[in-house]
Amino acid sequence: MHELSQLKVYKFGGASVKDATALRNLGHIVAEHGRPGPLVIVVSAMGKTTNALEALLQLAHAGQPYATQLAVLRDFHMGVATELQLPADELLRELFTTLEAHLAAATRVAAADFDRHYDQVVSCGELLSTRIVAAYLGARWLDCRPLIRTDETWREGRLDWAATEAALRGALPMAELAQGLPVVTQGFVGGTASGLTTTLGREGSDFTAAILAYCLGAGSVTIWKDVAGLLNADPKIFADTVRYPEISYQETIEMAYYGASVIHPKTIKPLAVHGIPLLVKSFLDPTAEGTRIHDCRHGLLVPAFIRKADQCLISFESKELDFISEENLEVIFGVLAQVRLKIRLMQNSAISFSVCTDFLPTRLEQLLARLRDQFTIHYNTGLELYTIKNYDAPSLQRLTAGRELLLEQRTRQTFQFVCRGEA
Ligand code: ASP
Ligand code: MG
Repeated sequence: MHELSQLKVYKFGGASVKDATALRNLGHIVAEHGRPGPLVIVVSAMGKTTNALEALLQLAHAGQPYATQLAVLRDFHMGVATELQLPADELLRELFTTLEAHLAAATRVAAADFDRHYDQVVSCGELLSTRIVAAYLGARWLDCRPLIRTDETWREGRLDWAATEAALRGALPMAELAQGLPVVTQGFVGGTASGLTTTLGREGSDFTAAILAYCLGAGSVTIWKDVAGLLNADPKIFADTVRYPEISYQETIEMAYYGASVIHPKTIKPLAVHGIPLLVKSFLDPTAEGTRIHDCRHGLLVPAFIRKADQCLISFESKELDFISEENLEVIFGVLAQVRLKIRLMQNSAISFSVCTDFLPTRLEQLLARLRDQFTIHYNTGLELYTIKNYDAPSLQRLTAGRELLLEQRTRQTFQFVCRGEA
């Protein structure tokens, strides 16, 4: 049997499979860097397909017409397959029939079952993209739904690691892999023990790559992106970005935690546990160095800038102007967890306790309904949360100049503040 420690896992995100040209480029990367293998390739939905599927589901659920948007999505996938000289109809027809059936059923789905239905619909993006990529590469298509085993936390399936590891090890075609035939499978998608499809949370394909690498004891994971590697800021938001040639797991986990969008936050831990290096490379310049995330020591890194938009600052005051006690905090934390609002920053004063969270109106409403009797609650929306990791005086000045800080917090390494959004 071939050594699994030589296994490479490649992950290609939406931008790297956005059209036929992108797929040809993917083909070159696999041929030049992925051979002789063994190689497992994890693929996201093409371009903005996940957003398009979300929009289609919203329309269908609301009983509004969606045929035009569905036709656009079908024509797009069929068009790419045809351009690559693949038998488009044979490859994709069945998947579109399934998608249509799910959409047609959407009006009858009760609000409580919406998230479950969401997973059945939105997972189609990765099923479609992987069909095309596998056929184009002449690779083996692997359905990950019976293998990446989760519970029934729809839209954010929680992994059953033991079941997943056993299933993956059993299902991998080792002999074929050893002969250099890559396996192509879906990012972002999983399945329950009862055979329903789940998803792992938006942008979850990176996590899939890490799950595969962990469970199979792979030698490395490479995430192919449209940027040169792990940068100190998102170049769409900040000018003058700098690439980190290498960085530790720990630093990367913290950056992802604070909201750096380059890597899904759950990706690093499974790799760190087994010491599997994560390479972030540019699919536009595949021979360039990129970033190596691994178990390393480095001096102080250049400051990293992270912005989270669409934030909400919620403050709780006890009704009798009592101090905010541990008992109060226990109640507040409990309800935040129940309604699944994640705290990004928190601070307390004598009589009030404030948290910064993503602005998610339905969850916020649930929170208010459950805590209004006990606390006086105020909240502000349309805010931004900035984090500077490894800050220094110039980086602080650069980000805070001219801004009114509604809340700020600093530790030795990290400076965070909340301010009004720019829009
Ligand atoms: N296609 C999914 C999304 O857009 C998963 C991913 O790309 O990582 O969220
Ligand atoms: Mg992504």
